[in-house]
Amino acid sequence: MSATPAPAGGIRTAALPEAAPATPVPSAAPPPHPAWGDGFADLLRADPDVAGLLLAEAERQTTGLQLTAAENFASPAVLAALGSPLTNKYAEGYPGARHHGGCEIVDMAERLATGRATALFGADHANVQPHSGTAAVLAAYAAVLAPGDTVLALDLHHGGHLVHGSPATLAGSRYRFVGYGLCPETGLIDYDRVRDLARRHRPRALVCGSTSYPRHPDYAAFREIADETGAVLIVDAAHPIGLVAGGAAPSPVPYADVVCATTHKVLRGPRGGLLLCGTDRAGAVDRAVFPHAQGGAQMQEVAAKAVAFGEAATPAFAAYAHQVVANARALAAALAEEGFGIATGGTDTHLVAADVTPLGVDAATARRRLAAAAIVLDTCGLGPGAARGLRLGTAAITTQGLGTAEMAQVAGVMAAAVRAGSPGGPEVAEVRAQVAGLAGRFPPYRSHM
Ligand SMILES: *Cc1c(COP(=O)(O)O)cnc(C)c1O
Repeated sequence: MSATPAPAGGIRTAALPEAAPATPVPSAAPPPHPAWGDGFADLLRADPDVAGLLLAEAERQTTGLQLTAAENFASPAVLAALGSPLTNKYAEGYPGARHHGGCEIVDMAERLATGRATALFGADHANVQPHSGTAAVLAAYAAVLAPGDTVLALDLHHGGHLVHGSPATLAGSRYRFVGYGLCPETGLIDYDRVRDLARRHRPRALVCGSTSYPRHPDYAAFREIADETGAVLIVDAAHPIGLVAGGAAPSPVPYADVVCATTHKVLRGPRGGLLLCGTDRAGAVDRAVFPHAQGGAQMQEVAAKAVAFGEAATPAFAAYAHQVVANARALAAALAEEGFGIATGGTDTHLVAADVTPLGVDAATARRRLAAAAIVLDTCGLGPGAARGLRLGTAAITTQGLGTAEMAQVAGVMAAAVRAGSPGGPEVAEVRAQVAGLAGRFPPYRSHM
């Protein structure tokens, strides 16, 4: 590749081999483009109300413990792509086949994103346009189902997502959902029951995926059941896809007909969805996203996804993904020592589902007390007839740099927060100060990558 020296602030236009997209690479230190202005200072001047809220939220995120399993801290590079002039560009359709002019550059951004996604996950085809995880799942359904078709998915009370059949959703009103559950004794997926239900109901699609299941699903078992009963296998890997990217969880890609995912959970990219599939389903999947369910692609999001896929392909991210799991295992063990019940006895992933009834409170009360100490997490179903529990994850605190050595402290402040305010328990202010001290030692935007 013969690179002519780029003019200052310009883009390199050296010819690249035909097959590779000619991505313009900025010169070493280009002056900032006026579109980025003074960054945050511009917002502060133009709209102090909104600027104030943004600063307050950044402060909230970095002074407490963010244990919401679906959250993470996107890198400054991802945030820079999101807050870019790509938001100005209309781009209905797909690279090379847009309904708008002037798409040459955003086409390159989208090809970069899909190329990185297929390489990262070893998939034939990627669609990077879904606006969210829900949009990705709805598109997967539309690609393989007709209205009224039967879908077998994890019951909502056992950790299925709303889009896996809640009657309140578009999916729930469009398709006929049958739910499979977790084994009440072990908290694990009951594969015999899944097979029985699939034989009985002959679903058009079998869905594997959960918002709170802390173990690796047996993708081979799901594939076998799908093959035996003539179902299409959709894996909703919204949660584990980031671990898959880092080699810290098995990949569903070799087993699934369609993989749906989010890019903002463990994967640590912008808020958005992703679809992976084989060449045979590429056309149906693409048509199901646009024009079936969405209009113009959000090109600032697509570019930020490309950045995230690039980050996720690095050894640093693989180390991060493995540390996320090590932290979750250490946290589950430390919480058990503090008296929490741990669903399935531990975790293989970033997720821990914990029962707080042994501490003498219900999950809603525990969550409220934890929030008062700036420890943020969700409640979740722990199975049929069981009390609700707490769902927590280690993706965000691991990005901050907390390691296995800190997990006993995290469990300690959690236990103290749950007991705070009860007779003989610590004061909330005391726990909150400990939490601020711990979070303050690990500022996410200083330790990133
Ligand atoms: C998070 C999640 C989704 C939805 O993602 P959104 O971006 O919030 O729409 C779908 N399925 C599962 C299993 C999830 O965990």
